[in-house]
Amino acid sequence: MMSEEQKYEKIFKEREQDLDEETLFVVSQTFKALSDPTRIRILNLLCKGEHSVNYIAETLNLSQSSVSHQLRFLKNLRLVKFRRAGTTLYYSKDDDHVMNLLKQAIEHAAHH
Ligand SMILES: [Zn+2]
Repeated sequence: MMSEEQKYEKIFKEREQDLDEETLFVVSQTFKALSDPTRIRILNLLCKGEHSVNYIAETLNLSQSSVSHQLRFLKNLRLVKFRRAGTTLYYSKDDDHVMNLLKQAIEHAAHH
């Protein structure tokens, strides 16, 4: 028989060892964001500064609509943010954790 104290300890340990649903969802979404080559290229560009949709499209040789589509996806996950100047949208990174994950993955690819 377990004492009350032992029961609480067991519950505490189980919570530490497993993740709650919300955490699992956000972590899955994070890796989903990083699982697409186009999104990886856009995030890599935004690691280094703020850029207009036009600049991103030209630099990566992608269509504006494809870049806008991916930026909306990344914005929904709060990985990028934008500011408007006239009719131009300038995007920049909005999360250092995920940018660090990306850097780690790029470094991993370099020694792989
Ligand atoms: Zn590695």
